Formats: sequence, structure tokens, C-alpha cells
Amino acid sequence: MTEKEWLDCSDPRAVFAEIKQRPSFRKIRLAACGCCREIFWGDLKDRARKSVEVAERMADGEATEEEGLAAFHAANMFADPNSTSFLKEVAEFQELSSQDKEAFQWAAHEAGMACWPEPQLCVGSRGDFQRERLRAKVFREVFGNPFRSPSLKLNCLNSGTIQLAEHIYHERAFGDLPVLAEAMEKEGCTATDILEHFRENSFHVRGCWALDLILDKS
Ligand SMILES: [Zn+2]
Repeated sequence: MTEKEWLDCSDPRAVFAEIKQRPSFRKIRLAACGCCREIFWGDLKDRARKSVEVAERMADGEATEEEGLAAFHAANMFADPNSTSFLKEVAEFQELSSQDKEAFQWAAHEAGMACWPEPQLCVGSRGDFQRERLRAKVFREVFGNPFRSPSLKLNCLNSGTIQLAEHIYHERAFGDLPVLAEAMEKEGCTATDILEHFRENSFHVRGCWALDLILDKS
């Protein structure tokens, strides 16, 4: 696969297959959470959304394994359409189209797997083309381009830029990434891959490869 093919690819399995370095548990959790937030958020019920939040806290070491297991079971209840509690809580489920039903179940499954002590990424086929395309995009956003290895000169980071990066990460204020790019450029940053990524008119999620580089997270 060439770099251009990878960047244009709408098959998440093919995108993931090119990631050479084995991703950390943190990255796997955040990629799964990114998929839940960007693709399935509307499909997820409150309890499964809470599982996503637990997985995000686990990624940063702020939630215990016990919390993770409870969140795994809570999300999985929605992944099993035959359970009594599922039918009680999701009465409207029967009215969904089969495609939306499938998406709903995958979303819950994905949220659950993100909470598992050894998280796994669902890379198999998950429904319609549009959702698959977005999943491929989330993978590129979290794992970064395997054809490049952008580096950052630390002298273009000062306490102000790091504070702004931390704020963006914790508050999910990704709309402020162009402001961060501006501030870094003023400090003499010439890492075009990173600056361009922050200015892209696209979505970013927690685990964004470029923001992680600045915050020294992997
Ligand atoms: Zn990003």
C-alpha cells in the first residue's frame, strides 16, 4: 500500500494492518472510544456512553480495573439483544432498521471492549460504508501515518503551549487546535505535518497522534 492509498483508504482493517508498531493499551482504548464518539454516539444509550467515559479514564490511569469490568458488563448488556434487561431498557430497539440495530450493538460491544483490562479493537466489518469510512479515519487520527515519523523540536514548546495542549486534551476543546498551531509557530515550530494536522478541517479525538506527541503520551 502506498502512502496515498493509506490516506484515502476507507477500509479500517487495511488502515490498521499498516500500523507497524504494536499500539499501547491506551491507544487501543482511545481509538475504540473515538469510534464510539464520532460514529456511534447517537446510537449509544446512557449506560454505554458511561462505559466510553470509563475507558477514557482508564486510558489515562484514572479508573481502576474494577470500574472497567463493571463498565464492560454495563455496555455488553446493550450488545446482547436477547437479554431481558436489554429488551426492557431499549423498547424502541425493535423499531430500528436492521442496519441501525447492528450499529447499535457494535457500538455497545466496542465500548465494552475498550474497558476490558486488555482492551481489543474491533477491526472487522462494522456495518455500512459510511461508518466504515469514519472508523478508518479515527484509526488514522489516533495511530498516525506509518509512512512518516514527524518529530518535534522541544524548544518550540513553552509552558503556555503545553498548558493550552493540556486544556485541549482534557476539555476535548479540539476546535482550539488551530490556535495551538499558531502559538507553536510563533515559538519557531516548523513541524509542518503537525501544524497542518492541527489546522485540518476535520475531527480530532482524544489520542490524536499529533496532540499526543506534544503531551509526550503514547
Ligand atoms: Zn488529530
